[in-house]
Amino acid sequence: MKSSDFYKRAEMLMPGGVSSPVRAIKPYPFYTVGAAGAKLVTADERELIDCCLGFGPLILGHAHPGVREAIEKQLASGWLYGTPTPLELDLAELIISDHPGLEMIRFVSSGSEATMAAIRLARGFSGKSDIVKVEGGFHGAHDAVLVKAGSGATTLGVPNSAGVLPDLVSHTRQVPFNDPEALEAMLAKNDDIAAFILEPVMGNIGLILPDDGYLAAVREITAAHDVLLIFDEVITGYRVGVGGAQVAYGVSPDLSTFGKIIGGGLPIGAFGGRRDIMEMVAPSGPVYQAGTFSGNPASLAAGLATIRYLHMHRDLYGAMEDAARAIDEAVSGRGSGTFVRLGSMFKYFFREAPPRNYLEVQECDTAAFGRFWAGMLSEGIFLPPSQFETNFLSTAHAGREIEEITAAYRKCLSE
Ligand SMILES: *Cc1c(COP(=O)(O)O)cnc(C)c1O
Repeated sequence: MKSSDFYKRAEMLMPGGVSSPVRAIKPYPFYTVGAAGAKLVTADERELIDCCLGFGPLILGHAHPGVREAIEKQLASGWLYGTPTPLELDLAELIISDHPGLEMIRFVSSGSEATMAAIRLARGFSGKSDIVKVEGGFHGAHDAVLVKAGSGATTLGVPNSAGVLPDLVSHTRQVPFNDPEALEAMLAKNDDIAAFILEPVMGNIGLILPDDGYLAAVREITAAHDVLLIFDEVITGYRVGVGGAQVAYGVSPDLSTFGKIIGGGLPIGAFGGRRDIMEMVAPSGPVYQAGTFSGNPASLAAGLATIRYLHMHRDLYGAMEDAARAIDEAVSGRGSGTFVRLGSMFKYFFREAPPRNYLEVQECDTAAFGRFWAGMLSEGIFLPPSQFETNFLSTAHAGREIEEITAAYRKCLSE
């Protein structure tokens, strides 16, 4: 069976033939039947170098032996208890010790759940009803954050999905990224804002870096207006380094959300922050939050193995950054676009200068991206299939893979 045959079956079985929309590559997605290290093996018997890496979690690459061993060991002792387990204490202590300002944590099963709970908690703690997010910022697939991007700094949120009630998202306001003045104006004008939630490094509209001083300004402005600051570190946690963006940029939020890497490739999410806020969560406080699979032992084991490995091999962050720099240098001067990178995250934008916000990223030539993406795939490189997703490297991307990626970029950007 080939990918095209699988997709014919899939179209009858699942909406758009997929389990998540971004996977619906045209004319049909390739089906993966195996993976190891930096590579995916497709049903069409191709080996592809993977720069999507499950959209971020697999920082040690596919089927990493240490993580696999930890999962296998856990499976032998059961994979769901419905009771507390010592593993969650180990992972909680690790994550808390890596993030100054983080005092308590609660595990959930996805990043979406983490931001949903953090927003509810911010409202419950403050008694205020509105939230502010960044235009183009992604916080998962729950109602409060499914707001049309680019609706402007002053207007109330408008749903960007059918089925989301306008009433509900009218409590979600938006400001552009890298614009402290817009945030200041928003918070000065409205006194019913519980929290400002943002990705400290935007990773879901390509890769947009914070200007120098932006995150510090955001910290100051939110504190001055008594608005909670939530960093959504679902991508950046353990990706931009141990301690995520909050340590890399030296700014401590009141609440943080995590996911992706902290589960080592198995489903997970977490939210945490200041003790006085976290103690509002049930059962110690009145803000309800619960989940059958929360603190799943297999996810905890995979996450622990991943984070412990990263602790023991901190030089790997430098090695991944060197690899991204090598791609950057090889690409420089090719094509008319621009290369943006941070650590092991990188993106080539079909736009002259690096975008600073959602409005600017919209100016990218997405048709050119589509041709480039298909070219890269035929060269054996799988990039996330959108101009608006970030590329990742793992510790399994060694010299040979980086050379192949580099050669493919050079070829596909000069066509
Ligand atoms: C992936 C992501 C989420 C959603 O996480 P899921 O596990 O897919 O629900 C939330 N926020 C950010 C920043 C993400 O990158």
